[in-house]
Amino acid sequence: MTTKSVALFRPLYRLQVTTARYICSKALEDTPSCFTARKTAESAQSLSQGNYPVLQHYVYPVVENTRMKALVKAEAAPGLVLRDDVGIPSIGSTEVLIKIKKTSICGTDLHIFVWDEWSKRTVPVPLTIGHEYVGHIAAVGSEVTGWKEGDRVTGEGHITCGYCRNCRAGKRHLCRNTIGVGVNRPGAFAEYLSLPAGNVFRVHPSITDDIASFMDPLGNAVHSCLSFDLVGEDVLITGAGPIGMMSAAICKHVGARFVVVTDINDYRLELAKSCGADVALNISKCEDPVEELKKTMKQLGMTEGFDIGLEMSGNAQAFASMLETMNHGGRISLLGIPPSPFAIDWNKVVFKGIVVKGIYGRKMFETWYKMSNMLVGGLDKRIQQVMTHQLPYDEFEKAFDFIRDGKSGKIVLNWDE
Ligand code: NAD
Ligand code: ZN
Repeated sequence: MTTKSVALFRPLYRLQVTTARYICSKALEDTPSCFTARKTAESAQSLSQGNYPVLQHYVYPVVENTRMKALVKAEAAPGLVLRDDVGIPSIGSTEVLIKIKKTSICGTDLHIFVWDEWSKRTVPVPLTIGHEYVGHIAAVGSEVTGWKEGDRVTGEGHITCGYCRNCRAGKRHLCRNTIGVGVNRPGAFAEYLSLPAGNVFRVHPSITDDIASFMDPLGNAVHSCLSFDLVGEDVLITGAGPIGMMSAAICKHVGARFVVVTDINDYRLELAKSCGADVALNISKCEDPVEELKKTMKQLGMTEGFDIGLEMSGNAQAFASMLETMNHGGRISLLGIPPSPFAIDWNKVVFKGIVVKGIYGRKMFETWYKMSNMLVGGLDKRIQQVMTHQLPYDEFEKAFDFIRDGKSGKIVLNWDE
């Protein structure tokens, strides 16, 4: 930046600092431990010292005198409210406006709905939530190139800073300042969403709207599965939630030999089987899950142990049984989020030489291209088994009930009716 342009930007920075200070003091008053408020406070400080911003956005402006429907976390308490008086988001010069057609519900949305400890620490209120969607571009900012009105799109829900070391190295999934759509900034459970153009992903014409609406969690599964070479390998997946089921589909599509899935829910295990799992094991019905897994291995003709582990339950016992049954040199993708810290037998990791890799989100945008190409190449036939319900957006409470009861795969809400 030249001295002249810095001077030009300074008043804008000052305005942002003032606004940010106001918002963060307000948010900090409401939710003292809120992540977004803390980040905004850091940004304000960083800007006032003349450094780069930590956040890309401080305020989420709306177009005056407009209103749209949106599912809003209106206050710091359980539940969600369907409002029809939320302003349509206005877009900056590098953003696009997306008219939402379908959305899909994620486990994260359920956490926000019930207002658990994580949500209290993380989500500022009021906030439109939701980050799984498909829609069409309705408007583009003045500096946006490559996108036009009418393009059918979905988008990467992690907004990265662009300034940190990993962002600058092209490893945006490792950005230390990631902001989540529908978690830290206004989300997609609404008629319109504004998104940085760099986060938009074009949906291939042969991918259905239903599947496109949950490419975000499918991307979590793709990132986990493709982190290691699966071809001809035996895979253990712990957790047959939507991401575990979709991972079973990907493993078989890619060429794994045997895929064994465990869960405690028969409904979900059946879905995992329809996605391609060779064995779906309800470990709540076994006295000793490890013995049961060993019996399964024997029945399949496996002599040494699983080559690849995909932990997708966040459950401590599930991870322990995985460590027990992995072969030496096994590789594990750890995606499941444990509700609290737990101990593991590190001897298993050390003496078996196991590699454990934490997975957060999707690689931008390598995961997205691989996912799209695999769907077009036939993965969609397996993935469509995962969608169990379609509901109009105003029946969202019913949808959350299905998820809470564990009687669902992916639930899609329609917004264009
Ligand atoms: P989900 O909660 O729908 O699925 C988890 C499944 O694990 C459930 O079906 C549950 O019955 C099962 N389970 C519980 N105890 C078990 C046990 N002892 N053994 C085997 N299975 C057991 O979640 P999801 O949407 O499929 O996501 C999977 C996990 O990944 C969750 O922990 C979620 O929080 C996490 N997640 C991580 C990321 C990331 O970027 N790392 C992103 C999204 C979700
Ligand atoms: Zn970054």
